[in-house]
Amino acid sequence: MNIKPLAPRSDFPLLAGDPKLHYLDSAATTQKPQAVLDAISGYYERDNANPHRGAYTLSAAATEAYQTARDSIARFLGAADPDTLIFTRGTTESLNLLATAWGHANVKKGDRIVVTRLEHHANFVPWQQLALATGAEFRICELTAEGEIDLAKLSELVTKNTKVVAFGHVSNAIGTVNPVAEIAAIAHRVGALAVCDGAQGAPHLTVGFDSLGVDAYAFSGHKMLGPMGIGGLIAKRDLLESMPPYQMGGDMIALVGDNATTWNVLPHKFEAGTPNVEGAVGLAAAVGYLESLGMDKVHAHETALVRYATERLATIEDLTLLGPPAVRRGGLVSFTLRDVHPHDLSQLLDAENIAVRAGHHCAQPLMRALGVNATTRASFYVYNDSSDVDALVSAVAHVRERFAATV
Ligand code: PLP
Repeated sequence: MNIKPLAPRSDFPLLAGDPKLHYLDSAATTQKPQAVLDAISGYYERDNANPHRGAYTLSAAATEAYQTARDSIARFLGAADPDTLIFTRGTTESLNLLATAWGHANVKKGDRIVVTRLEHHANFVPWQQLALATGAEFRICELTAEGEIDLAKLSELVTKNTKVVAFGHVSNAIGTVNPVAEIAAIAHRVGALAVCDGAQGAPHLTVGFDSLGVDAYAFSGHKMLGPMGIGGLIAKRDLLESMPPYQMGGDMIALVGDNATTWNVLPHKFEAGTPNVEGAVGLAAAVGYLESLGMDKVHAHETALVRYATERLATIEDLTLLGPPAVRRGGLVSFTLRDVHPHDLSQLLDAENIAVRAGHHCAQPLMRALGVNATTRASFYVYNDSSDVDALVSAVAHVRERFAATV
């Protein structure tokens, strides 16, 4: 099989500088194209000032760069109203914002919060802690044998007193792609909020927020070719307007009286303090790069790599692949190898210049249900090709032979 990279490796300085590296950890963070690095340095070389605060030309340029970035990222994610895109540090902060600001204003004793067994800790712990703080009931929807959300169970769990259903677009641990619209419809039947963790969705699939059906969608820039420390929360305007602010300080106020304060309009109400303009500008360049590749092609490329990897890994004795069949899985493979701890395996692979992740993938509740402590995960993106899969498969097969000989 010869699957060529969708994006040339030469566009990515780190990969170009290390031709032997098989980088298979893009679900953790992606490498950055030169276009993103150039956008960041260009911003500092030409436009840097504190936005929103200065009346002078340079501050206006920084404000303009920040707002233009918001416009293009919102467009990329399918939100017609750019002011409903709140910039945050990433998915974790976006979900904490919702669970804290919306949660404490709307959830009380006797209410129910529903999450799923697939969740990353970022979409699990904030809701669990909200339940503990308010006295609400915290319920976890279990999975089918193939690692997919059991929609029948979810329908039963989402009762009239349910205030929020929080679920991921794509599982970072086993790759399950969830039926977002169906889950949102189950939540909406009882008037609950549908909150989607898009950390592994936005980089790989067309999001189309306005027709997706959810009330809020969280994402991280660094997982979609952008810089670290920037991401966002897109939410319905009425939800954001009805919520109290999350953090207080500069930019988010309208009027500060001695005894009371009023809030700025969206998006500023949720963006207290000096914003990460560099991050927004870098992320806008990243989405421009993804748009030039085409998200349909990004998805098709990853699917081809995952299918190939799944077929080849399945031939290795003692290797167990986790998660749904490749056709219903995002751009990653997660597996265990009998008698070899994932940490040992990833170190042995590292010696062959193969970078994979090993561990619980910030999904301990899922690992418990799967009956494993950890898995080895290889995740693909636009710069990977079939030679990365070949290297992975032959190195894993080699490790298996060595261990089989010694056990
Ligand atoms: N949710 C999922 C599904 C993830 O994969 C991750 C990161 O791995 C996160 C949330 C947290 O993202 P961040 O660390 O960028 O906030």
